[in-house]
Amino acid sequence: MHTPLCRHASGEPVDYARRALEVGLTEIGFTDHSPMARDDFDDWRMRGDQLDEYVEKVRQAQRKFPQLRIRLGLEVDYLPGHEDWIRDLASRHPWDYFIGSVHYVSDDWAVDSPFQLSKWKDRDAFEVWSVYFDRLTMAAGTGLFEIIGHADLPKKFGHRPTRDCTPLYEKFLNAAKQHNCAIELNSAGLRKDCEEIYPSQEILKLAFAKGVPITFGSDAHAPEEVGLNFVEAVNLALSVGYTNGSRLAARVKRSERI
Ligand SMILES: [Zn+2]
Ligand SMILES: [Zn+2]
Repeated sequence: MHTPLCRHASGEPVDYARRALEVGLTEIGFTDHSPMARDDFDDWRMRGDQLDEYVEKVRQAQRKFPQLRIRLGLEVDYLPGHEDWIRDLASRHPWDYFIGSVHYVSDDWAVDSPFQLSKWKDRDAFEVWSVYFDRLTMAAGTGLFEIIGHADLPKKFGHRPTRDCTPLYEKFLNAAKQHNCAIELNSAGLRKDCEEIYPSQEILKLAFAKGVPITFGSDAHAPEEVGLNFVEAVNLALSVGYTNGSRLAARVKRSERI
C-alpha cells in the first residue's frame, strides 16, 4: 500500500488502516515507492529526504490502530546497477520487507506509465517481455527482496507477446525459488486494462510447481482500494494448488494457511 509521498496516491496510512479494519483485515503492509539515489530520476516516488517522514507516518498508524498488525516495507525499483543503493536503503530502518519491482525496462521507460504508451509502438511485445523478465530474474537473484511485485506488469495496457514466454517465466521462477523470494498476487491488475491479477494463472501454475512462495497485495493507492478483490486473488491461488501464503516480519517469511 502506498502513501501520498509517492505523488500519485491519496490518503494517509491512518486512513488505509481504518479501511483495513472496516473490511476485516488483520494485517496490512505499507510499501510505498522507494526513493532513487537521484531524486530527479522520475516524479512518482518519495524523495530521499522523505524516507524518515514515510516511516513516521506508518508508525503513527501503528500507534493509532494497535489492534491491526501494520508492517513497514518499501516497494523498491530494481534496475541493474542499483544494488548498492538498495542495500543502503535497507540499512536505514528496521524494515519488515522489501518488494522488488521492475517498472523500468530501460533507464527512461517505465512499462506501466500511461504517459509513455507511445513507446510500445516501436517495440515488439516479446522483446519487452524478455527484457522485463531478465530484470525480474536478476532482481530475484540479488537476494535483496523478500517479494517480487506484479511479475507480469507489461500486460497492464493489454500488450501481450504472441510467442511462448514459458522459458522467460521458468528462468525467473527458478531464481525466485533459489533465493526463497515470494511472488506477489497483486489484485490491482483487475483494475487496469488487462483486467487480470498479476501474475497470470499460467505463471502462477509454474510457480506452484516449483514451490515458489506467494503473498497477497491490493497495491492500494487510495484507502478504498485496501484489500480490494482479495477473494479473486485467493481463488486464483487455490485454483493452481496453493494452500499457503507468506507473512513477513523483520525480513523473515512465515508460511501460513490461506
Ligand atoms: Zn504506484
Ligand atoms: Zn509497482
